[in-house]
Amino acid sequence: MDFGFTEEQQLFRASVVEFAKRELTPEKVKNWDRSASFSPELFEKLAQAGLAGIALPQEYGGQGADSVTVGIAIEELAKFDFNVANLIIIDNVLSAGILANYGREELKQAVLPQITSGKKHMGIALTEPHTGSDAANIKTIAKKEDGFYVLNGEKASVSMVGLASYFVLFAKTAPELGSKGISAFLLPMDAEGVQTYTFDDFGYRPLKRGGISLKNVKLPFQNLIGQENEGFKIVMKQFDFSKTLLSLACIGTALAALDDALSYAKQREAFGRPILKFEAVQFRLVEHYTLLEAARLLCYKTLWLRDKGLPYTKEAAMCKWWIPRLCVEAIHDAIITIGNPAYSKDYPQEKRLRDVMGIEIGDGTADIQKIVVAREAFGREFVPYK
Ligand SMILES: Cc1cc2nc3c(=O)[nH]c(=O)nc-3n(C[C@H](O)[C@H](O)[C@H](O)COP(=O)(O)OP(=O)(O)OC[C@H]3O[C@@H](n4cnc5c(N)ncnc54)[C@H](O)[C@@H]3O)c2cc1C
Repeated sequence: MDFGFTEEQQLFRASVVEFAKRELTPEKVKNWDRSASFSPELFEKLAQAGLAGIALPQEYGGQGADSVTVGIAIEELAKFDFNVANLIIIDNVLSAGILANYGREELKQAVLPQITSGKKHMGIALTEPHTGSDAANIKTIAKKEDGFYVLNGEKASVSMVGLASYFVLFAKTAPELGSKGISAFLLPMDAEGVQTYTFDDFGYRPLKRGGISLKNVKLPFQNLIGQENEGFKIVMKQFDFSKTLLSLACIGTALAALDDALSYAKQREAFGRPILKFEAVQFRLVEHYTLLEAARLLCYKTLWLRDKGLPYTKEAAMCKWWIPRLCVEAIHDAIITIGNPAYSKDYPQEKRLRDVMGIEIGDGTADIQKIVVAREAFGREFVPYK
């Protein structure tokens, strides 16, 4: 067994930290949250640092990094801003990742360089107003008519609306087949018949969650990603990667919260001594650091399995059911450790709590992840539904 990172990975981690210290300053991060939008310079800087295309193939301008290396970038960026880490996961790993793995070559050549250069962004649209966890139950439909797919329906609770120029969108091509009748499409957001609205979220704000309505939207056949009716399999596979990275992003953010609480507890005095001398305070921090270390190991093991080409669906679902909640609790206790100042919006702690909480729902709730773990560990015959 070897729990170490390679020298190259350690150097890379240090370079991401340098980048984040320079470009993700507390002032900028606060502004992006308050204004619910990233600055365009950020995208340029991410591209220059090779982070906008970190997981994408080199032939399209990406870095083609292995999964563990992508995890390192996500963990470190999330220590400075959870939302920037998440932007890379949704844009690059999840959405553009699907296009890179399954898209037609002409489409990849046309779109992926726009993503790796940070000029354009992509999102993923699966959820609908009436269904989230039961994703096979979507109603958006794509019918073949006159040499096009014609799409009608509505997507809701989708990240990156108002930011992304393209979406990987899922629609039924054979409604009678349930999850086996769903296909993936590349939707350019300037297509005729597309309308959007955004939510006023309490966290995750620059990622602009919202809805997309589709009225007779015509897409050429080449915008089909993968084979017809393969969409559900495609998205679930890519979710295994994104779930693990989202869990690492939660950990990075929670570690930053604990580190702030630790620094504070070393210098804040009560009853004539630093509060860190009180066992209630130090044990609280010790317990969270211990659990986060275990969680971190699970994430990196999961990414390592992916890099080795081994199955990792079970481990990814273990990460996702356990870690977002664990991190919410760690950040909560970091706030309690600091006391009254941390309750203010002037402190970064409340933002961390708001942002990380979104991942208790986004990409699938803990309830659904536990069903996946049970399916993988105990057998399909114990899945509670067909
Ligand atoms: C911050 C954020 C970002 C998101 N980004 C995207 C995105 O980019 N693209 C996208 O397509 N979607 C996105 N989503 C949507 C997200 O994937 C769904 O919200 C999620 O899958 C849960 O669906 P739901 O909210 O409709 O809850 P529901 O499915 O209605 O579930 C409600 C509750 O019932 C529980 N439940 C449901 N079924 C079961 C069951 N079988 N057993 C036990 N409990 C069950 C759930 O765990 C949950 O607690 C995002 C959501 C959030 C909050």
